[in-house]
Amino acid sequence: MSAPARPRIAYVLPVYNEQDNIAVFHAALSKATAARADLDFEFVYVNDGSRDASLDRLLELRDADPRVTVLSLSRNFGHQLAVTAGLDLVGAGTDGDAPTAAADAVIVMDTDLQDPPAVSVQMIDLWEDGVDVVYGQRRSRKDTVFKRSTAYAFYWALDRLASIEIPRNVGDFRLMDAQVVAEVGRYREHGRFLRGIVAHVGFRQEALLFDRDERFAGETGYPLRKMLSFAANGILGFSTAPLRLISRLGIAISLLSVLLALYVAYVRVFQPDQSVPGWAFLGVGMFLLGGIQLIMMGVIGMYLGRVYVEAQDRPLYSLSLVAREGAPAAPRRHRDRSGARS
Ligand code: UDP
Ligand code: MG
Repeated sequence: MSAPARPRIAYVLPVYNEQDNIAVFHAALSKATAARADLDFEFVYVNDGSRDASLDRLLELRDADPRVTVLSLSRNFGHQLAVTAGLDLVGAGTDGDAPTAAADAVIVMDTDLQDPPAVSVQMIDLWEDGVDVVYGQRRSRKDTVFKRSTAYAFYWALDRLASIEIPRNVGDFRLMDAQVVAEVGRYREHGRFLRGIVAHVGFRQEALLFDRDERFAGETGYPLRKMLSFAANGILGFSTAPLRLISRLGIAISLLSVLLALYVAYVRVFQPDQSVPGWAFLGVGMFLLGGIQLIMMGVIGMYLGRVYVEAQDRPLYSLSLVAREGAPAAPRRHRDRSGARS
């Protein structure tokens, strides 16, 4: 038999106004990946409607290095969609017209040198040991106090509300096996929160700790406005808890009206000189009606939550293996460097 095909690793690299970073970043990435000459690399840069000379820089890069692929979005669609466009290209996207052979593993990383290229190569080692998703977990980050504290609050809320466990201090810097990329590609929701989707998909996931560096040049493409809508996508995309909160509040207020009724009856019987005519009806009625209204809104909320989940139209499940009569169990793809693993 002929020698097995060389494993193909694709990098998906979103770019938004990174003209001063691209050349330095690509040099660092080429240097780091040169240590693995036994692998085939493809570097897919996705220009997310940059307003500077990023696209020109990328096309220059492509002239100099045939492993570079350049995608350019027609406008700024945001980081999550830029990454999705890259994943669709290198994986077997749902469009069914993947133009290139699918990669065996895909690494997503930022192009501002905050995610160290050397760490991405360590991710490949873990993948070869059989891990399906290696996510970079920040041991430390050199961001502003504001960014760190808002990120902390966000992960705290997400942790309490989301229906699945989404690891903390994890960005989109991660390696995904081809199988995982194919599953993630089946999630076509618009308000995308990729790290949540990847956690939702399952498979064997492990963290790799790293120190996040400072942005090399330029400024962040995530101002507060984008950060807030991103946080909303994360929480609302993976939780209908806020809707259920309505009926809980309604029940609490209704109970309060019962307590108030008891108090009113007490005053009426034992301190008749203090009771004002009509106030019992008004006071208790107000609380009772408010409570009933909130409970009914909660009922609507529960149906709305179901409509929302159905509208997201996520895959119902993901298979990692089918071992059926007549067909061999799917081999663990290309990962055996020594040929020893099965
Ligand atoms: N990015 C993008 N589209 C955007 C904003 C950012 O593709 O609308 C890219 C950006 O070029 C970088 C990555 O996403 O490679 C992370 O963005 P950034 O460094 O601005 O975010 P931060 O690290 O400050 O959270
Ligand atoms: Mg950054």
